[in-house]
Amino acid sequence: MEELEGLFRSAAENAAGYRRSLAERPVGLPVDQEALAKAFGGPLPAGPTPPERVLTDLIAAAEPGLVASAGPRYFGFVVGGALPAATGADILAAGWDQVATNAVTSPAAIAAESAAGGWLKELLGIPREASAGFVTGCQAANTVGLAAARHQVLADAGWDVERRGLAGAPRIRVIAGAERHATIDRSLRLLGFGTDAVEAVPAGPDGAIDVGALREVLHAGAQGPTVVCLQAGNVNTGACDRLREACELVHRHGGWAHVDGAFGLWAAASPATRHLVDGLELADSWACDGHKWLNLPYDSAFAFCARPEAHAGAMSLAAAYLVGSGGVPVGADLTAESSRRARGFAVWAGLRELGRDGVAALVDRCCALARRFAGGLTAAGFEVANEVVLNQVLVRFGDDARTDRTVAAVQAEGTCWAGGTTWRGRRYMRISVSNATTTEADVDRSLAAITRLAS
Ligand SMILES: *Cc1c(COP(=O)(O)O)cnc(C)c1O
Repeated sequence: MEELEGLFRSAAENAAGYRRSLAERPVGLPVDQEALAKAFGGPLPAGPTPPERVLTDLIAAAEPGLVASAGPRYFGFVVGGALPAATGADILAAGWDQVATNAVTSPAAIAAESAAGGWLKELLGIPREASAGFVTGCQAANTVGLAAARHQVLADAGWDVERRGLAGAPRIRVIAGAERHATIDRSLRLLGFGTDAVEAVPAGPDGAIDVGALREVLHAGAQGPTVVCLQAGNVNTGACDRLREACELVHRHGGWAHVDGAFGLWAAASPATRHLVDGLELADSWACDGHKWLNLPYDSAFAFCARPEAHAGAMSLAAAYLVGSGGVPVGADLTAESSRRARGFAVWAGLRELGRDGVAALVDRCCALARRFAGGLTAAGFEVANEVVLNQVLVRFGDDARTDRTVAAVQAEGTCWAGGTTWRGRRYMRISVSNATTTEADVDRSLAAITRLAS
């Protein structure tokens, strides 16, 4: 037992030391992928290796290839860090090794999901009666939400898709914003809709769906089973669809409104940004990430559904030997996994650590820091393309080539990390401020590096 404690302690100490190093560690270093492959490679050992030795080897092999994406100056994609209590909770979850299928396999895991699910709905302004599935990422949350949608719109047409499948089913109209996230398309592929089924609605100048165009598309086609994918948080600009109007339109057509709000749904958690997602409570399903803006450890996301029976109808794992299925749907009845990690502990811990005001402050701080970035870049003479309504900044350095060179130079220099993107046919650097530990000083230091490298 003492050996086990020593082993776990050294793993936790290494993780904590790494975390401590993030504020000063170069964010992006050139990585030799071949050297990494070699360090991890070699033949499968025939015999055992002592656990301490295994961890020492793992640390040595992994260290040169770790990306400081949990650190305060990583502005790539929309990543976010990992709150201390949530990380500690995940360490416990690994140690406890619970099977979060249902309340028989892990009563504690299900209780944590149930409590955290209630807190999440309260923070996001999602109706209390909604169900909440704890999934791996917003990709999975989109799949679950759209599976519930498929279930309901076909049930309304007298078709049981879970039993009969899609062959011979009434056709479902799938309408989605032209600037939807790529994961929506993959979810549609997995669910048998196919990406050709998508009727794309153009976006307005800010990247949010053009509601007038949505109205036209809805009117142009037949009534009948209809699923509409809306978005809170355009990955380039942060713009949110006008959800109240859009959901009302969709419902007038008898359709199902799904909201992909991977990071943008968190606008609801602060009084300062709440108006951006006004009317979100009218939707039928919502997908939201925990591991991005909420700063929970990877992987963690939520699939909410206003109609729990449609959610469970699409996802539940009905098998006679599974005692937990059949009653109130929990755990595996609301997700695509059967055996699953107890990710609810980290969610519960992260929310408890921040509290309601802490979540709002996190959202406000990231938005303020994004505006600081935009202000600094504009002052330096660079073109910021978007109105910074949330935590995303799009900046261009002269032409496409110079913009790409600047992005590459910033990534190689290591002070901070930001990615490149194409927006409306032109290249930009995309800066996303999503980390709970980022300070004004981090932004200023990053601004200095970016402006120096762009010149
Ligand atoms: C990140 C993101 C997703 C995908 O989420 P994962 O957590 O990577 O699965 C979907 N939609 C939007 C808008 C996103 O930003």
